[in-house]
Amino acid sequence: MNGDCMGRIIAVTNQKGGVGKTTTAVNLCASLADSGQKTLLVDMDPQGNAATGAGIDPRAVGTSMYQVLLGAAEIADCIQPTGIENFHVAPARLEMSGAEIELVTAFSRELKLRHALAPITDDYDYIFIDCPPSLGLLTVNALSAAVEILVPVQCEYYALEGLGQLLHNVEMVRQGLNPALVISAIVMVMYDARTRLAAEVVSDVRQHFGDRVCRVVIPRTVRLSEAPSVGQPVTVYAPNSRGAVAYRELAREIHERDGQPGTAGARVARDPASNEHWEQEQADPAGISPVSREGAPT
Ligand code: ATP
Ligand code: MG
Repeated sequence: MNGDCMGRIIAVTNQKGGVGKTTTAVNLCASLADSGQKTLLVDMDPQGNAATGAGIDPRAVGTSMYQVLLGAAEIADCIQPTGIENFHVAPARLEMSGAEIELVTAFSRELKLRHALAPITDDYDYIFIDCPPSLGLLTVNALSAAVEILVPVQCEYYALEGLGQLLHNVEMVRQGLNPALVISAIVMVMYDARTRLAAEVVSDVRQHFGDRVCRVVIPRTVRLSEAPSVGQPVTVYAPNSRGAVAYRELAREIHERDGQPGTAGARVARDPASNEHWEQEQADPAGISPVSREGAPT
């Protein structure tokens, strides 16, 4: 374990389904773990794909994040090692879909995950939270527990649709629950170099979001789509494939950025003052054109 663990907590979120959240979370964790960073992947999606993608069989899971969120177990009781050194997973199972309803009447229901993570945060260099494809209570818990948000965006025509709503919700969480929250990285994924559209989408998103968009773009590759079926990150399944190389480079970029968009800066503390740069940029908090398309509040 590194002596200086400070636990960067990063929620991987986008309410759109199938955009590469889990693939990005699993492969970033695997790449960071390979480079010696102690890494935890918290699965907040009842589909349980993060655990499966990291090689953990959901049928063999006893305690899961469901019990942790309901206060019936400590997170330490559900954390499991993966086949990769330094890479641990807190798995979810289908039963967690019930938590969204069971927590409705619970006291401080939005902060269950934050409280659960508190005792172990300093044991890890990185804690990634894989979110479900919704903006419901499980995602709100993830956004309340995180300090950073990483948003995977597909290099496809409707990529920006829904991002306005996501930014609006992030702003609500920031104001009400977690003032330190920043969108530290937007990652363009499933890039198909054969299409002109993909390049146009990347350039469009860079125009909207500037240096919050990561330099590294993840290609669409068959190896990346095959890897979950064998329960391995692509960095293990096909370590020299383009997808594996890209995720390793992305991990390096995220590590160097240290929570700040575009630069290697100071670590973002859970301190509202550290968020000033973001507030200034967010004079229009939703700040991108799809918001007006969707009619979300500006
Ligand atoms: P959900 O919203 O259901 O949780 P998700 O956003 O987590 O989905 P993934 O499960 O990571 O998305 O990816 C969706 C599908 O696309 C999976 O079958 C995955 O293997 C595949 N996939 C993800 N990234 C790539 C890529 N770069 N190239 C090819 N296939 C990919
Ligand atoms: Mg997923």
